[in-house]
Amino acid sequence: MAQVDLHTHSSASDGELSPSELMALAHKLGLSTIALTDHDTVAGLAEAAQAAHAHGIECIPGIEIEIDFEPGEFHLLGYGIDPQSAPLLDATQRLGNARHERNEAILELFANAGFQLDTIKISELSRESYIGRPHLADLLVKARCVRTRQEAFDRYLGKGRPFYIKKSCLPLEEALSVIKAAGGVPVVAHPYSLFVSKSMLGTLFSRWKDMGIEGIEAYHPTAKFGQCVILERMAHERGMFVTAGSDFHGKARPECGLGRTAGNMAIDSCYRDALVSALSHPAAQK
Ligand code: AMP
Ligand code: FE
Ligand code: FE
Ligand code: ZN
Repeated sequence: MAQVDLHTHSSASDGELSPSELMALAHKLGLSTIALTDHDTVAGLAEAAQAAHAHGIECIPGIEIEIDFEPGEFHLLGYGIDPQSAPLLDATQRLGNARHERNEAILELFANAGFQLDTIKISELSRESYIGRPHLADLLVKARCVRTRQEAFDRYLGKGRPFYIKKSCLPLEEALSVIKAAGGVPVVAHPYSLFVSKSMLGTLFSRWKDMGIEGIEAYHPTAKFGQCVILERMAHERGMFVTAGSDFHGKARPECGLGRTAGNMAIDSCYRDALVSALSHPAAQK
């Protein structure tokens, strides 16, 4: 049984491993397909494609974009995107600028609260364009204000905590048009993070389908396996395809092992096949 992973992060966003290291690990674990879906950036895709080729692995270029939504978090995956797409690069640039402003504002909150972090420049937190709360959390760990990245989120940076500042995100329509302009197929990531009831999710699935979203990431390690099966059924009832991923970030999230999803299930290549068939479907390219 071929094993795959359709949701991973590299050091181009907030993952631990470089795209090359990620592909080397995938090779070591015997995975046949990896989709790299870094937050708000395509900066890791070229290296990922090259490394995947060297290891004989299929690499599906992707991205994960946060969408304006309340009460929870809405993440939209885009698969099969062209990393050179001008509208896509324009959007990632704007998202990067918005992040930069927000990071500065959060650092100011740190400073006002008396945290001694001012010797560290924000530009040194990551070699890539994406710098986010995970990097700020690491700063707090380095300054010994907290022991772990998770503790930094739980005490300071998570939604509703004292140093949380809302990030400006893309409206759904805009994210969809950017992904489609890049030749990609949009898939809603980990729907339970939207924090709405199941009946509301059903309503949203139907609305998304009408808007041109064809896929749902039903399987994600943060949800119970049985709950994922329910999502899979809800998606299939609406004629949507289903994907599965680990949301691999490296050591920072040990519960998300590469190639494994909810219930520690090894991710079967049938989920890759459903995605690839949508990628080759002309309706998806509109
Ligand atoms: P940002 O895009 O800067 O808001 O950071 C979002 C990223 O921070 C997510 O993709 C996760 O990797 C991480 N994150 C968000 N909330 C939490 C949390 N409560 N605990 C741990 N990590 C989190
Ligand atoms: Fe992340
Ligand atoms: Fe996500
Ligand atoms: Zn993710």
